[in-house]
Amino acid sequence: MKILVTGGLGFIGSHTVVELAKEENEIIIVDNLNNSKEEVLDKLEEITQKKFKFYKYDLTEKERVEEIFSENNIEAVIHFAGFKAVGESIKEPLMYYSNNLISTLNLLQVMKKYNVKRFIFSSSATVYGDQGKEKYSEELSRGKITNPYGMTKAMIEKILEDLYASDNSWDITLLRYFNPVGAHSSGLIGEDPKGIPNNLMPYIMKVASGKLEILSIFGNDYPTPDGTCIRDYIHVVDLAKGHVKALQKAPKGLNIYNLGSGHGTSVLEMVTTFERVNNVKVNYKIANRREGDLPEYCADATKAFRELGWKTEKTIEDICRDAWNYEKNLL
Ligand code: NAD
Ligand code: UDP
Repeated sequence: MKILVTGGLGFIGSHTVVELAKEENEIIIVDNLNNSKEEVLDKLEEITQKKFKFYKYDLTEKERVEEIFSENNIEAVIHFAGFKAVGESIKEPLMYYSNNLISTLNLLQVMKKYNVKRFIFSSSATVYGDQGKEKYSEELSRGKITNPYGMTKAMIEKILEDLYASDNSWDITLLRYFNPVGAHSSGLIGEDPKGIPNNLMPYIMKVASGKLEILSIFGNDYPTPDGTCIRDYIHVVDLAKGHVKALQKAPKGLNIYNLGSGHGTSVLEMVTTFERVNNVKVNYKIANRREGDLPEYCADATKAFRELGWKTEKTIEDICRDAWNYEKNLL
């Protein structure tokens, strides 16, 4: 199949390109390198021993999107491109709404024009909001969303639902990711955020490598067994495989799947596992709670297993090992 992967040089997109390349697929990548590096393309070619057509285009420029579709007989689109930092989205809402929404609208309009109607969208567990659950299933409706980044995800989901209602010949899959972490086992691709990381795993990696001094664990007085927050961490390679399965197995129409492991891990468990499997020290201190954090947020991942035959295979140990392997290559 000829697949356009938007944001294909980013963290999740690049790992998905690797998995897609294992099948008989022709992959076209578009990425404006806003949050990625062109070197990732070389790494992808090294890992897969395949070549990929790459467009360094910005999806907010509709003529550019048209150009890609006029030059290639694209059959499906996996749409990763977008801005994703929650804190930044609160400071720069217009930047987030315009990039994430305009990119998606341009893509969908051009797809419609070229009669390409298979679309997989990177959504987020954040669309559930806080419904006081330990596990979130797709049967729940979208909840109250507290930041512009999350709103862009919810708004795009709604746009896609409306599009499908208007024309049910579209095949649309909304994938709601829980906490993507880890790296490819080659150590060649992974997550390397610019500046000081906001997320737990990249922060742990920077402390372990000595680039940052100490990890602050945001609160140890939550109603969880060790007092620290629990999340559903998913290895990025498992996540990437979920996209391949969605492409192959999702029933016709509009479908929504959680991509998570269904198992929770606490912040403290993540830190101690990282230290144990990698034999490194992660300095940490207990700090105040971070505003907006929930004690526990995990996926009910049974629907993806039932309908797509997909479940996570990698463990928290694998996540810690692969993340560290990638980080060491950056040193
Ligand atoms: P990423 O930033 O590593 O990848 C996104 C890529 O899109 C980057 O390479 C960036 O350069 C590119 N991009 C952004 N705007 C673009 C534009 N206008 N035109 C062309 N390219 C553009 O992020 P990621 O972690 O790989 O996330 C991929 C998708 O998954 C995003 O939509 C994100 O919101 C979603 N998601 C991520 C997480 C997570 O924790 N990483 C969780 C839930 C959902
Ligand atoms: N966390 C932490 N210290 C950090 C970053 C994160 O203790 O420097 C905690 C955070 O409070 C949350 C968990 O790690 O409980 C996961 O946070 P992350 O930002 O990675 O993902 P979120 O689930 O908030 O999207």
